[in-house]
Amino acid sequence: MSSSSRPDATFADLGLPVALVQALRNAGIEKPFPIQAATIGDALAGRDVLGRGPTGSGKTLAFGLPMLTRLTGASAKPGRPRGLVLVPTRELATQIERALDEPALALGLRVASVVGGAPIKRQADRLARGVDLLIATPGRLDDLIKQRAADLSDVAITALDEADHMADMGFLPQVTKLLDRTPKAGQRLLFSATLDGDVDKLVKRYMSDPVTHSTAPPAAAVTTMSHHLLYVRDKSVKRAVATEIAARDGLTIMFVRTKHGADRLAKQLRGAGVAAGSLHGGKAQNNRTRTLAAFADGSVPVLVTTDVAARGIHIDGVSLVVHFDPPAEHKAYLHRAGRTARAGEDGVVVTLVTDEERKDVAAMTRKAGVETDGVDVRPGDRQLIAITGARTPSGVAVAAPAAPAQPAPKAGSGNRSRRGRSGGAPASEAARGHSRGSAPHRDRPVGESRGRKPAGTGGHARSGDTPTNSRRRAARPAAPATRRNRTAN
Ligand code: AMP
Repeated sequence: MSSSSRPDATFADLGLPVALVQALRNAGIEKPFPIQAATIGDALAGRDVLGRGPTGSGKTLAFGLPMLTRLTGASAKPGRPRGLVLVPTRELATQIERALDEPALALGLRVASVVGGAPIKRQADRLARGVDLLIATPGRLDDLIKQRAADLSDVAITALDEADHMADMGFLPQVTKLLDRTPKAGQRLLFSATLDGDVDKLVKRYMSDPVTHSTAPPAAAVTTMSHHLLYVRDKSVKRAVATEIAARDGLTIMFVRTKHGADRLAKQLRGAGVAAGSLHGGKAQNNRTRTLAAFADGSVPVLVTTDVAARGIHIDGVSLVVHFDPPAEHKAYLHRAGRTARAGEDGVVVTLVTDEERKDVAAMTRKAGVETDGVDVRPGDRQLIAITGARTPSGVAVAAPAAPAQPAPKAGSGNRSRRGRSGGAPASEAARGHSRGSAPHRDRPVGESRGRKPAGTGGHARSGDTPTNSRRRAARPAAPATRRNRTAN
């Protein structure tokens, strides 16, 4: 632990320039999070920094602000960035670019991201215009270097974000190749949820006398996260239960094992009246971006995703994570769970467990170090509603979020919406979400309400419900049970 940790320091106290502090204030960021208070001073002083913190702890600004500050006052030559952030996924790259865009502008610096799945020519042109801080996924940067569109010899500071995920995803050979192309004496910042195994190898090889900051407990111990096992007997009960869960209020991420499984579940949910999108490695980048934007702005409040696609997704206000298919191992459980309870928010994590999966799941959650309770559930169960806020979906089919814009299906128009009991609000929601798909992150209000569907839409009413009852249920916190079962710190 560094002696420079200053838990009560302001951003200005930490040594950040006034223009940057002002830009942060304009974005509503007033006080450093612990990981920022702990690392910014050392990073500004030029030290190599090793940061260990859970997802959502504020790592992006922890490495981004000192990088930008240290790059201020000079300008990058064409194709020769001066700062480099390596990340495992395209989504994370875009997210970091968005988070650092305004702060960079305030300091007169240029930030850009280069990722796979997007046109390389445009990225090469962007690099040729000069980029001070480049955010990149390893594969695409490697391609740009091969094409001589990028050269890393001017990189004075490199940050590796989610280094453990880059290692898990098999990127280390590419990462080391890229680091070898940066100047040996350059400053290096490495952030990771875990600092063992392959990450440790990177640290030993590329970092010199690093200060280590571990300011927050791992995801499993976030005090506002609670974990539940929902025993669903078999696959058909599991699907029915998942559909009711998906119809809840708030943002929900459902994890499945395969790409095909993701598409199938999302389609089933839409068929039942729940606006859901699927995200996986088989989707085109623009489709992925649109799906994520519609999820983040709450217009498509259910995201069905595979592990690989979900790496690095950082969206605030996700109040429930559902392991629709239990993960294969405990690390994946913790990573998935880390998509909720971000930045001090509450979060609930449930795993749907069929009879035959019980033994494996029990062993996996034990290994993950999480305290769980287990309940038998069937569609409509009180316990299910108390834990997840589950509801009966409308049955009025909704359009796919990332499909080309088309009129929302009308009730009784000849498709599955015939089964619908009441209005087509969720469908029009999905259509609106599509047209608003690229709404910038910072324009969104923070918190659960983003994920809320409009009160009074027929879509969420249970049979026999008055609108008032229905709303009351929606407003009910996700469980006294939940609170009792919070994970111990
Ligand atoms: P990160 O872990 O970097 O993805 O950050 C998680 C979330 O916390 C993002 O939405 C950030 O905008 C937000 N955030 C980061 N630092 C602060 C801060 N000091 N004050 C308020 N919000 C912050």
